[in-house]
Amino acid sequence: MVEAGAPESTQGEIQTVDVGVVGAGFAGLYLLHRLRKAGLSTVALDTANDVGGTWYWNRYPGARCDIQTVDYSYTFDPELETAWQWSEKYATQPEILRYLGFVADRYDLRRDIRFGTRVLGAAWDDSKERWLLTTDKGPAVSCRHYIMATGCLSQPKPPEIEGVHDFKGEIYFTSRWPHDGVDLRGKRVAMIGTGSSGIQSIPIIAEQASQLTVFQRTPNFALPAHNGPLPEDRAAQLAQDRNGLREQARWSLTGVPIPPAVEFSWQMSEAERRERFEKLWASGDLVGMLTQLWADQGVDADGNALLADLIREKIREIVKDPETAAALTPHDHPFGAKRPCLDTNYYATFNRPNVTLVNLRQEPIASITANGIKTDKRSFDIDVIVFATGFDAMTGAIRAVHPIKGRDGKSLDDTWAKGPETYLGLTVAGFPNLFLITGPGSPSVLSNMAVSIEQHVDFVVDRLAAMREAGFTTIEPTETAQAGWTRHMADCATVTLHRLANTWYTGANVPGKPQALMPYTGGVGPYRGICNEIVSRGMLGFKLT
Ligand code: FAD
Repeated sequence: MVEAGAPESTQGEIQTVDVGVVGAGFAGLYLLHRLRKAGLSTVALDTANDVGGTWYWNRYPGARCDIQTVDYSYTFDPELETAWQWSEKYATQPEILRYLGFVADRYDLRRDIRFGTRVLGAAWDDSKERWLLTTDKGPAVSCRHYIMATGCLSQPKPPEIEGVHDFKGEIYFTSRWPHDGVDLRGKRVAMIGTGSSGIQSIPIIAEQASQLTVFQRTPNFALPAHNGPLPEDRAAQLAQDRNGLREQARWSLTGVPIPPAVEFSWQMSEAERRERFEKLWASGDLVGMLTQLWADQGVDADGNALLADLIREKIREIVKDPETAAALTPHDHPFGAKRPCLDTNYYATFNRPNVTLVNLRQEPIASITANGIKTDKRSFDIDVIVFATGFDAMTGAIRAVHPIKGRDGKSLDDTWAKGPETYLGLTVAGFPNLFLITGPGSPSVLSNMAVSIEQHVDFVVDRLAAMREAGFTTIEPTETAQAGWTRHMADCATVTLHRLANTWYTGANVPGKPQALMPYTGGVGPYRGICNEIVSRGMLGFKLT
């Protein structure tokens, strides 16, 4: 339905729906499906020109998931599960994008998505009990409920290097890779950034470029993916008990159906520890390496160091030049306190004659010039710069909708000036009928996000349906509940090693961003249990009117 009398920016029209969704990635698509089934009218808006979110934007060479794809999939429809077969253990970006397109077609979702449309701002009108979303194209959206499925890793971080605009060559961002690909053959390429996207793309770019210079500020732990077809044991397990495995994932700590280790490092001999480590290193399983070695690996610095040392030994074995190996070896954070990466030939790529590592801890970049990059020791002639500099994670895309004005015109920017506070990572006091999918305060980026997204979407849509049935029109967390959740978040974090690392989980990668550990560290299963308990106790911590 279209209403008259909209703000100027929206050309005089308003699209009126029950629920406005921003984002058409994994979360937005499932939301559309569930909201429709619940009989709620809805529209999703996305700046992208098609569905896919992360997998629409990140088309760089080597882009893949790092959770086994068979687990990184929707589980809400058993028929969908058997209608789609993954070809690899860790699928590539094109295959995941095809999957999300397949899902959009199967449930006819595109007809409720406005592509190529950015949501610019959002304001709550207390008298109408509705949100008004302003957009850069087409009508504004008036909605009773506003759901931000805007993604935890969707707001790229701009480069902070002087002179970047003077550069005369080509510039690319891994997070906005051109759809037609980039021909890097015979070119001198600079890669800035060695996070997950850098680590995945460096081996492939090194094969194409005449010279690749990698500029590294902070080394990351990377584990070999050993990619290939879905392992036979997993395929057999799934065939036998798909529902059981899915349920196990939902109640696990990370959203993946593998049991964590229960023995402590000190209960094992050195030989036993090494044997476990070698087995996992050979299997190429990131979540296994994060959880299955010994019980104290994620909570005790000494237990963690035993594992980190074994990985450091591997790096030294693979990388032939000792100075390069030393520069690639992380010492500034415990293993797992920063998201480790999965790679294919990452470390070995530094043995190639056409690859150079520049350690920015020893020679920082002074500037980018018309023809290349200058550190404070040398100059490099460069044809192409690739920025793999990551994201303003978790809050970046939410705050890019600016302003978000809640009750009494209160802005989310002011509310979060000292860092994000939420109730369950899903709702914010003072912002009625606003929901964040995988927001700060939820397990989100510390989990298999497919599982977390399904849980969030089910929670939100079930609540909206229940509210409608009971005749409620608004929902909002109390300040007390939000303060309690913030305290609980902090308590959980103190028993992990995340407190020992400055990472994008804490906002440390973005200058000026308030520092706080943003994801919930209590685990996917415990979090689900808390959400369920809140519902069974009459929406504990929420005000409904
Ligand atoms: P997204 O997929 O990020 O989609 C959000 C959408 O919202 C985007 O399309 C964006 O354009 C749109 N949007 C944002 N703001 C606005 C606005 N103001 N107006 C209009 N549209 C807007 N997670 C895992 O669990 N396992 C993995 O292996 C894994 N691998 C990853 C690899 C890469 C390279 C990256 C970047 C992330 C990876 N992730 C992984 C995390 C991944 O982001 C999530 O798994 C998942 O895809 C998130 O889905 P989403 O729908 O919540 O958000």
